[in-house]
Amino acid sequence: MIIIKGVPASPGIAIGRAYVLEDEEIVVSRQEISPERVRSEVKRFKQALERTHLDLDAAEARVLRTLGKEHAKLIDAHRLILKDPLITKEVTQRILQERVNAEFALSETLERVNQAFEKIEDEFFRDRRHDLFDVGKRLLEHLLRKERKPLSALREPAILIARNLLPSDTLHLREARVLGFATDLGGKTSHTALLAQSLEIPAVVGLSDASHQVKPGDMVILDGNQGLVIISPGPEALQRYEKAQVKEKKEERALEVLRGLPCETADGKRVELLANLDTLEDARTIGALQPDGIGLFRTEFLYLNRTSAPEEEEQVEVYSRVVESLSSLPVIIRTADIGGDRLSDLGLEGPKEETNPFMGLRGIRLFLRYPELFKTQLRAILRAAIKGRVKILLPMVSSVGELKSARRLLTQAQAELVQEGHVFESPVEMGMMVEIPAAILLLDFMLEEIDFVSLGTNDLIQYLLAVDRVNEHVSHLYDPFHPAVLRVLHMTVEAVHKKGRWVSVCGEMASDPRAVPLLLGVGVDAFSVSPRMFLKIKQTLRTLKAAEVQSLFQRALVQPTSEEVHRLLDER
Ligand code: PEP
Ligand code: MG
Repeated sequence: MIIIKGVPASPGIAIGRAYVLEDEEIVVSRQEISPERVRSEVKRFKQALERTHLDLDAAEARVLRTLGKEHAKLIDAHRLILKDPLITKEVTQRILQERVNAEFALSETLERVNQAFEKIEDEFFRDRRHDLFDVGKRLLEHLLRKERKPLSALREPAILIARNLLPSDTLHLREARVLGFATDLGGKTSHTALLAQSLEIPAVVGLSDASHQVKPGDMVILDGNQGLVIISPGPEALQRYEKAQVKEKKEERALEVLRGLPCETADGKRVELLANLDTLEDARTIGALQPDGIGLFRTEFLYLNRTSAPEEEEQVEVYSRVVESLSSLPVIIRTADIGGDRLSDLGLEGPKEETNPFMGLRGIRLFLRYPELFKTQLRAILRAAIKGRVKILLPMVSSVGELKSARRLLTQAQAELVQEGHVFESPVEMGMMVEIPAAILLLDFMLEEIDFVSLGTNDLIQYLLAVDRVNEHVSHLYDPFHPAVLRVLHMTVEAVHKKGRWVSVCGEMASDPRAVPLLLGVGVDAFSVSPRMFLKIKQTLRTLKAAEVQSLFQRALVQPTSEEVHRLLDER
């Protein structure tokens, strides 16, 4: 029995025989092209582009048929890459100017882009290079006239082991009856990992050399919860995991019955359970969970991967669609929390490179620097508010002045809209994210300016503990159970309730079943959680007794270390 540890990419347990996908290295050599052949070499490259487009069309049709529209988005992303001047223009220019073969020109371009990607600090954006390679590999295969080894060779359900899986491969895994997969490469926010999660296929990535250690046909346990791959497990491990698997399946089925049930504690306290919304596509699936509303609509996706900010009309359409799809439920729309590191994308002036973007020009700071941008979004949100129950949430607030400025702009925007003939039946509430410790210390003043508060524990923990939330070297110090975190949660809830206001938690801590008793115990009014954890959190809340967790929290509050907080939770 051999156990290898990697990065848990998609939860769940899979047990089965290994199907090892051999990694075919594509070797590209440089060839000089004579001046008279250069044009036909460019033509050959264009034909490969054309064939790759056809591949994508076929893949799209298959994905639409089997997995639906949401997953077909990836194909669109690949089409954009294929049309990007980086691929079309740069490769053609290399062929023409350097008089080299198309394969070489392409692989040189891919290498240059890879180096640029390597420097990106944000893990999510760094991982987007896998999409580029996916497209690049397809193109190379057409140029070299190579056939892909299809997963159709897989005759029975198996666990797929590969050096790397391209996101487009991942889309076929369900059709190919793959039970789970493990790869040597990859990070937890790679497209491959994200797709595995939404397809609900257990996955472990970043295993270094699993593809060499596992032999075809080996018995394998894949533990996507802990990021483990167990090769040739002993009878005891096998039995333990089989039991765990049965239990997991049972738990999943049990969660389904919770859909229509109220979210209340075992002693009858009603708790508001809201969902976080990150993209427009999620809006449809979220409705089926029957949440009490959207507690955090992250609007950043509207501003990324483009060179100019979205116009008011485009935004109105997006927000209205969400508001209307949720009928009369409240929707809290957060003004965009775009950061200094993404400035150049929108063509704004300002520091192009910040040494410390998390402490830089992001969230409300950026919008107050560019009030027109801010006002456009405020107007769009206000117009959507006419169609339903909308509230505005401001990110990254650290001073009373910021709130006053935001209020001024909001009032101005609303006055303009009224002059233009829009009618507002009731005032639109404005709230703030509490995610910078300074805001907690000044909350009594800040509450004079706002209507409600949402606790952004993701950032709050990083700023309170001085631990960059995406830096793997200090990730062991990122600790939601740190007593200092509990203290600031307590201070926040006390201050907010003293003023008779409402407070929710929308950071990931609310989606962690282990943290839920503490959050309920401290007295937050609502949980806003990721859709994937929605039913699990509802289930957790329904097992708790409000009175009990209150005293649990009081005891947790006086512990000196997070180990002791955990011990208290274990004793429960
Ligand atoms: C948070 O910081 O907890 C939060 C919800 O905001 P984001 O994760 O979008 O920064
Ligand atoms: Mg945040």
